[in-house]
Amino acid sequence: NVRVRFAPSPTGPLHIGGVRTALFNYLFAKKHNGTFVLRIEDTDQNRYVANAEQYIMDSLEWCGIAPDETVGINEKFGPYRQSERKEIYKKYAQQLIDDGKAYYAFDSPEALDAERKGHEENGKTFIYNWHNREKGRLVNSLVLSVEEVQIRIENGDKYVVRFKTPTNVSLEMNDIIRGKITIDTNTLDDKILFKSDGMPTYHLANIVDDHLMEISHVIRGEEWLPSMALHVLLYQAFEWKAPEFAHLPLILKPTGKGKLSKRDGDKLGFPVFPLAYTNEATNEVSRGYKEDGYFSETVINFLAFLGWNPGTEQELFSLEELIADFDLARVNKSGARFDPDKTKWYNQQYLQQKPNEELAELFKAVIEKNVTSSAVERSQNKLIEIVGLIKERATFVSDFWDLSKFFFQAPMEYDAKASKKQWKEATPQIMSDLIKVLSEIEDFTATNLETIVKGWITSSELGFGKVMPPFRLSLVGAMSGPDLFKIAELLGQKETVSRIENAIV
Ligand code: GLU
Repeated sequence: NVRVRFAPSPTGPLHIGGVRTALFNYLFAKKHNGTFVLRIEDTDQNRYVANAEQYIMDSLEWCGIAPDETVGINEKFGPYRQSERKEIYKKYAQQLIDDGKAYYAFDSPEALDAERKGHEENGKTFIYNWHNREKGRLVNSLVLSVEEVQIRIENGDKYVVRFKTPTNVSLEMNDIIRGKITIDTNTLDDKILFKSDGMPTYHLANIVDDHLMEISHVIRGEEWLPSMALHVLLYQAFEWKAPEFAHLPLILKPTGKGKLSKRDGDKLGFPVFPLAYTNEATNEVSRGYKEDGYFSETVINFLAFLGWNPGTEQELFSLEELIADFDLARVNKSGARFDPDKTKWYNQQYLQQKPNEELAELFKAVIEKNVTSSAVERSQNKLIEIVGLIKERATFVSDFWDLSKFFFQAPMEYDAKASKKQWKEATPQIMSDLIKVLSEIEDFTATNLETIVKGWITSSELGFGKVMPPFRLSLVGAMSGPDLFKIAELLGQKETVSRIENAIV
């Protein structure tokens, strides 16, 4: 029974690294008919950000990878916010203390600082563990008498609960992606499980919840690999079966050097967040893929390839195809380079696949920003056809405007270089003759136009070069655009003629 979880801390917007972790969990769950849980790890009250939790939910929903179980949804193992589970962690911390697997430590931050400094001066690093925990310099329940501990607690002395890391154990662990990992427990420190503010640390809360929520596989970022030994030891201390672990590779900057950071987006000119995010403290807005005009299919597809590959040439994968083909065995150990250009390529591919009706609908909003509503009304029924003509040259719906604005407004100026080259002394006369030809056409369709105009050019022995370029300049204002006869058809006879007239004067 596969149960996986995505367990973000709501300390700010979820960046694409987080979404990648969520996606791999989602794919693994769906592939094995399992359950995808979203748990909010909000025990660090100093770093809590109020709108972050909603942002996480909205992002997963936009990507199409919403959780099966979370706050408000199938709360089988709830609550799903750790801040609402405080009592549970207290109980388990107590259990470890009672079993002699954890202990109270009363050392003040100042005393610990002094220890650290003293070690540094001797060229050593201070680690709170088997080395010194019972030597009497540190103040904890391993050296104090039971009565003394009791008195200190009753006095309200500040304490933390530390894990008593087993000594002299060569701990063998397995990671699905990295294989066998062996750790000498003597190198580990006695991590704090419970803080003086009455909150558990990430480590305790995380493994208690993974156990209680019956998580079968822990799939998370590489930055948690150093915590794996402690987590495995905690499972052993509780005599619980540990889940399987898979640590996903880092996502690297486009240069391949160093980890992609939340700040890289603004620096390098691409979004690193799924949705735009407003920092409520500073009012700063960070760009999002959605608002920048990327499709959610694009985001899913490029994220899937950050660390995973299908082992074939196929690059375009729908969410369904990803579920079918995803395999943790095909996830790499080495860092995955993030490539913003490739991301654009995916968007361009998905844009070509979208039905013109859907694109036209999205395009409407762009047009409304650029022209008066009456002009939009006039061309709305032709929008679908226009989209079909231009989309192959677009990466984003927002590109449509530059590719097609001449459909919605007559040229306000003519490309200077092209005019100089194409608009000769004889051109006004030729264009007047063209107007006569066009005005007589009854059925103003592209095919008809093409036959009649080309027939006229041939019979009058003018040559295409004298007619077609100035004709295009008159309608478009530049030498670009799709098939000219199609443009004329969509503009209609009246508008076509009027644009040529305007060009002549
Ligand atoms: N709360 C941790 C985070 O912010 C969860 C790490 C884990 O998945 O164990 O990523």
